Amino acid sequence: MTIRLFNTLTNNIEELCPGDGKTLRMYACGPTVYDYGHIGNFRTFVQVDVLRRFLRLQGVEVRHVMNITDVDDKIIRNAAAADVSIAEYTPRFEDAFFEDLDALAVERPEVISRATECIPEMVALIQRLASQNLAYKTKDGSWYFRIAGDPEYGKLSKKDFTGINDGARIDLDEYDKDSARDFALWKAPKPGEYHWNTELGPGRPGWHIECSAMAMKYLGESFDLHAGGEDLMFPHHENEIAQSESATHKPFARHWMHVRFLLVEGKKMSKSEGNFYTLRDLLLKGHKAAAIRLLLLSNPYRHQLNFTFDGLLDATSSVERLRTFHQRILGGKFPEGANPDLAAVTDKAREDFTAALANDLNTAEALAAIFDLVRVGNVVSDSGSLLAGNAAQIIEVLDRFDAVFAVLQDRDADLTRAALAWAEREGRLDQVAASVLVQASLSDAQIDALIAERNEARRSRNFARSDGIRMELSEKGILLEDSKDGVRWKRK
Ligand code: AMP
Ligand code: ZN
Repeated sequence: MTIRLFNTLTNNIEELCPGDGKTLRMYACGPTVYDYGHIGNFRTFVQVDVLRRFLRLQGVEVRHVMNITDVDDKIIRNAAAADVSIAEYTPRFEDAFFEDLDALAVERPEVISRATECIPEMVALIQRLASQNLAYKTKDGSWYFRIAGDPEYGKLSKKDFTGINDGARIDLDEYDKDSARDFALWKAPKPGEYHWNTELGPGRPGWHIECSAMAMKYLGESFDLHAGGEDLMFPHHENEIAQSESATHKPFARHWMHVRFLLVEGKKMSKSEGNFYTLRDLLLKGHKAAAIRLLLLSNPYRHQLNFTFDGLLDATSSVERLRTFHQRILGGKFPEGANPDLAAVTDKAREDFTAALANDLNTAEALAAIFDLVRVGNVVSDSGSLLAGNAAQIIEVLDRFDAVFAVLQDRDADLTRAALAWAEREGRLDQVAASVLVQASLSDAQIDALIAERNEARRSRNFARSDGIRMELSEKGILLEDSKDGVRWKRK
């Protein structure tokens, strides 16, 4: 099936396919590791993960490159304030970023590239631009890109730059640039500031050149897709295109994907607005990572998503409903045969799911297709007419669903425990919700031991003790389900 995706460059929904007919080569802008990411950042990473997972599900090989921006103004500033080098400052936040990606079941890209490890490639790219008179050095030793040398500048964001009067801009004097719009490729160090000594002179790379150099290093001068959040379209991606295409005279990325913002009360979730939640904040309040993932991807990527706690609770019950249905089909014993009506419903869910994602990653419709199956599957199962053939077919559809949505596996308790351990290390236990502390007070082994003791108490007809244990477990957030196959438990 053809996969179609909106292309910001052409303003059209277009087929997304590997240029070489085999491997889809894609680059997605990664994090700046100066602090913990907020769930707005993770909306972008989760949506890009949906794309890569869907491509793979459809049999397309993927080579996905993501950068880590481990040098920039904020990093330099924060490291200096903490009196450590940038190399000592960033690993903690890089590690936290990957832990958060794992918690959100975001697959690792094939290549992860740190900016500080690709300085020679950036220098070479700037030299290549300079040799064409498209980069120039200012008195302070910084290098700038000459926008006037690129007639196509603005083609991604469709901004109109005519009429912008250079002379009116004060920063011309300050930076001694040829044009106010010209952007930095290489920044000369301020006194005492961290820098690299290179053929360009001392300094550090600008943010835009990082991505151009790393994308070309790992994907070649032309590749299939470039992705990032909507705020990156201008100037970051516009500048990436300008530098790369001016240097190579080849199209940089053919397809551009931009994920729209996660909002809070109508405003972009961001550090500067102070209206943000990190993943850790939410885990420590007792929310589940899988529910956060489902929330972040439930709305298609080209729609903004307003974050609310009600929305998160809805996502939590959706995850529960999906898992309960999955367990019911997986664990049930069904008579031989297949109910043809249910088989048709299951086939339709499979087709609708795939068609929705192939149509510009419509995650909302894909999810609706699966919920139709859950609804009908439950009704048919209640009536006793769900047969073994149906169960196998449903599991196959749920496996396909989960290859993209990745919410069925229950890792909640482990993730909460890891978040708690982190809060303890960081001295943030005061931010932990009481319910989380109570739940975490029992390990799985302790729960199993209490259940064994309860079974023994019931066998010896000591109902006071067995009821007491059920009560104790319930108070600690553990629900018991007595079934004919024994006692099952789950955390609330
Ligand atoms: P940063 O670490 O700030 O460079 O951002 C990492 C990624 O998160 C980029 O692709 C941003 O475009 C994206 N991003 C930042 N804020 C939001 C938001 N509120 N909603 C969605 N994506 C965002
Ligand atoms: Zn980038």
